[in-house]
Amino acid sequence: MNIHEYQAKELLAKFGIGIPTGYAAMSVEEAVAGANKLPGPLYVVKSQIHAGGRGKGKFVELGPDAKGGVRLAKSIADVEADAKDMLGNTLVTIQTGAAGKQVNRLYVTDGVDIAKEFYLSMLVDRASSKIAMIVSTEGGMDIETVAHDTPELITTITIDPATGFMPHHGRAVAFALKLSGDLAKQAQKLSSQLYTAFTTLDCDMLEINPLVETKDGNLLVLDTKMSFDSNALYRHPDVEAMRDETEEDPMEVEASKYDLAYIKLDGDIGCMVNGAGLAMATMDIIKLNGSFPANFLDVGGGATKEKVTAAFKIILSDPAVKGILVNIFGGIMRCDTIAEGIVAAAREVDLDVPLVVRLEGTNVQKGKDILANSGLPIVSANDLGDAARKIVAEVKQAA
Ligand code: GDP
Ligand code: MG
Repeated sequence: MNIHEYQAKELLAKFGIGIPTGYAAMSVEEAVAGANKLPGPLYVVKSQIHAGGRGKGKFVELGPDAKGGVRLAKSIADVEADAKDMLGNTLVTIQTGAAGKQVNRLYVTDGVDIAKEFYLSMLVDRASSKIAMIVSTEGGMDIETVAHDTPELITTITIDPATGFMPHHGRAVAFALKLSGDLAKQAQKLSSQLYTAFTTLDCDMLEINPLVETKDGNLLVLDTKMSFDSNALYRHPDVEAMRDETEEDPMEVEASKYDLAYIKLDGDIGCMVNGAGLAMATMDIIKLNGSFPANFLDVGGGATKEKVTAAFKIILSDPAVKGILVNIFGGIMRCDTIAEGIVAAAREVDLDVPLVVRLEGTNVQKGKDILANSGLPIVSANDLGDAARKIVAEVKQAA
């Protein structure tokens, strides 16, 4: 799960990490009220969307010559004008895709006098089973170019979660950022605090870009992105409360209500499967037969009729879906129960694309009989290969 910059900074501040003072705003009035609480004379008006690259982004409604989604304002009147420009308009950045994202929230912050911009991020490195801290002296809006053209300017420091953050990690960060004296001490303390925040909050990813050295000699987090391990959210109700569903794929939001693991993909064959491993195998075999899955969907072990119906509706609400492959192993759930669920769901949603069902496991014959006697145009398959061949052929035939 992702959160907004202002929310992430709120969390980091609780760990003692330095951030510029700022106020979130949902309206122009709130933006002005926030700015009035700040000392001035420099303010920053920041679009809050779940995507980076806002500074260089463009508003669809304002044309290519207008300023981007992060603006420096020199007066309260400028803050007001910028807030009017941004709220309700659509910001396109390198991370939003061509459709962009509507800006519904702003963050008005105290403008900082920047001496230097650095980069610092953390993520769970699956390859080493460690936490990676990635730092660079070349922070700011062009970090992607740095990573591509001059990767030697980026340093990765790995931290073993079994032993945790050690003083030498902090020194390595300060060294990589070419800091000395008090700034080096600040970098050591900051990286330790970030590690604590990252592990305490069960983060997936934490990116600070830029981390800045201010003209008066402080390290401050100027921009940050944070994402969390969804499976650990139950431990952090305060983080879960920060969820902004308007930023998420509506189908994925709907799926999460029914506890379905759903990820939208680019193909045209909708998949409904129980178990993540079987779901992966199903997607693979669809590709092997020359087509592409429209989604990953794991209905889980205890797939009830309600869950199966919700899953059908979600798959069918995707206009790209030209056929559905149901691949369910009846272990805890018996195949006849699943078949009843599929038939009821197919009736309820007025299925208008080919449906191939492969059932295996307990009471499989009873399940197949229920499908065959339903009067619905459901194609039954005997095994995984058969199922994939049949759905690919059905979709090609219908096209
Ligand atoms: P992003 O474009 O989505 O990554 O948004 P950022 O919050 O990183 O802002 C983009 C750029 O705006 C930063 O890299 C800074 O150069 C600049 N910026 C943001 N806040 C301030 C500030 O307080 N003072 C100054 N001088 N520049 C700022
Ligand atoms: Mg940034």
